[in-house]
Amino acid sequence: MKTIRYSFVATFILLCAVAWAATPKYIFYFIGDGMGLGQVQALRTYFKATGDTLAPTMHFYDFPVAGIVSTYSADSDITDSAAAGTALACGSKTRNGMIGMDADTVALTSIAKKMKASGRGVAIMSSVCIDDATPASFYATVPSRHQYHSIASQGAASGFDLLAGAYFRDPYGVRAHTQGNVFAEYQASGYTVVRGRDGYTLPQDASRVLWLDNDSTTENTIGYVVDGDNGDMSLPCMVRAGIEYLYKRYPRGFFMMAEGGAIDHMGHSNDPSGLMGEMCEFDAAVREAYEFYKRHPRETLIIITADHETGGLSLGVEGSKGPALNNLQCAHVSKAQFSNALRDLLKSQGSKVEWSVVRQFIENTLGLGSTITITPGEEGALMIALQDVVDSRGKDVKTLYANFDYLTNLIYILYSHKCGLGWTTYSHSGNPVPFFAIGAGAERFENQGWMENTAIPHILGGMIK
Ligand SMILES: [Zn+2]
Repeated sequence: MKTIRYSFVATFILLCAVAWAATPKYIFYFIGDGMGLGQVQALRTYFKATGDTLAPTMHFYDFPVAGIVSTYSADSDITDSAAAGTALACGSKTRNGMIGMDADTVALTSIAKKMKASGRGVAIMSSVCIDDATPASFYATVPSRHQYHSIASQGAASGFDLLAGAYFRDPYGVRAHTQGNVFAEYQASGYTVVRGRDGYTLPQDASRVLWLDNDSTTENTIGYVVDGDNGDMSLPCMVRAGIEYLYKRYPRGFFMMAEGGAIDHMGHSNDPSGLMGEMCEFDAAVREAYEFYKRHPRETLIIITADHETGGLSLGVEGSKGPALNNLQCAHVSKAQFSNALRDLLKSQGSKVEWSVVRQFIENTLGLGSTITITPGEEGALMIALQDVVDSRGKDVKTLYANFDYLTNLIYILYSHKCGLGWTTYSHSGNPVPFFAIGAGAERFENQGWMENTAIPHILGGMIK
């Protein structure tokens, strides 16, 4: 009898603890696309190498709760962004390529939709296209991530308060071979369309907002950070504007998913300085949420994770002296722009191109050969590669988002090496990814062990009152 009474009391206390567990009103869900442990450790080491002026806990990797997350999909040890996005948004493993449905093509309900149903405002934002796999997983249900027109259309029907990103990949149904105009659909659903930096002050009187970049350097992103200020939107400013917009409109709170989408592009390209630019931007975007958290600490939860790792990035590469991430500051362009500029240079010089001209270009753009010293052997290898390009033996290297000339690719392998960074692939790896959390409800992610990515939306779902 005594045991029964004790177990009753214990159960009662447990139930009370669950009921009293902090339930966040404001939830930030940050996803670094392709951001593995290597990428986060590189960011940390980069700040250490270049002088970090920000106090501890101002970087997301200093948040008090941390964990490790599996990324494999239902049909592959190496997930793609669609299956991983579905896991993170809907809590179910699915097959690569599928969005918002399980492996048996049964439609799922995303955590964003559940948050909307709970009376919260919802914003889905990305530094890449808004119909890309990660953001799409929060509002769309399609058997193929390439059904961009259908995804965009489902965004218009989502009822979410704010959708923000670079652009759409198929707004008029050209790729889908159907006639359509998603802009008309968004308008019919009550969305006000805002472009570029006009969105930094979102119209409070708009019932819903679709926010897209202006004509940026590339339509697939809001512009790469390393390429400098092209008048594009930035992820931290998007987060700040999103907070402002939702906070005033929703006394019941909000849910915001913000994706650092171009981290993945840089992993695919094996572009170390491009990657660091995107990582710093992602860190700064989280800091916007952190500032909000400091004003509402008992009501705000911030979680950060990734859908998968891209590039197989590691600190330390055979033959290199060790991480020298200060060298990342020498580059002023992305690898994609470097390759374009080098192609133009070679074209202008013709078959009589002098190595000294190319060397000067490499020095000026990457600091390679000046600030970063190279050995005669390394220089000799690049000279041979130049001749291979001139003689059409050196073939282009095609990765998911770019096509690099042969010489650029070799230069970037050397540049990564000089930074002490190694890459294993131009695709995704099967490595796990990190998880970080701070704020109300963060403790629910503690003691989870090595988490499945599907656990995250389930735990968030348990916080809906
Ligand atoms: Zn991805």
